[in-house]
Amino acid sequence: KTITAEDIKKSVKDNDVRFLRLAFTDINGTSKAVEVPTSQLDKVLTNDIRFDGSSIDGFVRLEESDMVLYPDFSTWAVLPWGDEKGGKIGRLVCSVHKTNGEPFEGDPRNNLKRVLKEMKEMGFTDFDIGFEAEFHLFKLGEDGNWTTEVPDHASYFDMTSDDAGARCRRDIVETLESIGFEVEAAHHEVGDGQQEIDFRFDDALTTADRVQTFKMVVREVARKHGLYATFMAKPIEGQAGNGMHTNMSLFKDGKNVFYDKDGEFHLSDTALYFLNGILEHARAITAIGNPTVNSYKRLIPGFEAPVYISWASKNRSPLVRIPDAEEINTRLEMRSADPTANPYLLLAACLTAGLNGIKEAKKPMAPITSNVFEMSEEERAKRGIKPLPSTLHNAVKAFKADPLIQEALGEHLTQSFIDSKNLEWSKYTQSVSDWERDRYMGY
Ligand code: GLU
Ligand code: MG
Ligand code: MG
Repeated sequence: KTITAEDIKKSVKDNDVRFLRLAFTDINGTSKAVEVPTSQLDKVLTNDIRFDGSSIDGFVRLEESDMVLYPDFSTWAVLPWGDEKGGKIGRLVCSVHKTNGEPFEGDPRNNLKRVLKEMKEMGFTDFDIGFEAEFHLFKLGEDGNWTTEVPDHASYFDMTSDDAGARCRRDIVETLESIGFEVEAAHHEVGDGQQEIDFRFDDALTTADRVQTFKMVVREVARKHGLYATFMAKPIEGQAGNGMHTNMSLFKDGKNVFYDKDGEFHLSDTALYFLNGILEHARAITAIGNPTVNSYKRLIPGFEAPVYISWASKNRSPLVRIPDAEEINTRLEMRSADPTANPYLLLAACLTAGLNGIKEAKKPMAPITSNVFEMSEEERAKRGIKPLPSTLHNAVKAFKADPLIQEALGEHLTQSFIDSKNLEWSKYTQSVSDWERDRYMGY
């Protein structure tokens, strides 16, 4: 059911909401918010809350730094924790507009809406997404900062543990449910302190909004348990990293067009074309889906993360897997992205690549039936299996060489993304790590 301004006003009254948090996302995928007291409710509901965008990463355009927030009423939620005095906080996800009312091109959410409109012009109705975001829980130190100590040493799907990690995970699930999430699975992952909580797939914009809320809830609840949650891609050397598997399907009038009962793995030609688009642009997409220096420490053999551009139905080593599923759930699972990705940019890039694949109508390479890591270099070459970029620098290079994926972001976001990543890489190249000292001090 659609939520109206009246519904929100009523909810504010009924729940004793005292603050309104107006959320949006910067280029790096970080949630930002303007918080106003409830006395400003009328202004909030009539798109009249302004802020200075010049200090937001990726927004920087001093000559037009005044921005206006347009809340999306369908995202209304009363947060399960309150202010200092016991009043509640209401949250609305917003799109960022310019003072003349036009959507601001530097807002990743607006950009995803633009790409979704292009999809609709091609005759599809929904791009459905299910994310599987993994994360780590560490103990909080006395000073309130993170430590590298894990709360448990349980492992994958461990059932016996009733440790701090499991208790925290259950609290996160219940908190998510209390604000309308449909949590489908929650379990301990392979690594020490590593967890996964999956919520039901939905259309791309809704899911991107939700994953931002999801991260906020995970972090807040973890703190209540004396724990620190991180979505960093590879927090512990030698152990599994955090992925954000991206399950994608395309719908037309309520029907999943990726499904064909007679197709191999029940995939339609449309699904195969879409898949080919993803594979062809995988290197540039990696810059968006794996946007940190640390992301590339996860994309190595041996930890169920992909390294090579290939696909398969069962095997977990390639970039895209086709999980066994019913008609409605028939989907492509892209396994490369990690939860440090900006979800709006990631989905805009994947959708653009996939739709372009449909336009080109080319079938992908043959699926692999064995572990790509065990193939010899020659065998991979023979099958046309190329590697994903091995560093942030190489990924950004691939992004700069891919006009289609740049188009997926639009000019403003492309430039902010490149600027932001160039700076990050340059800082990294100047840093000297413990690994280097251990290795080279004796020289
Ligand atoms: N943690 C693995 C990764 O880095 C994924 C494990 C899984 O298949 O869920 O992507
Ligand atoms: Mg997992
Ligand atoms: Mg998965």
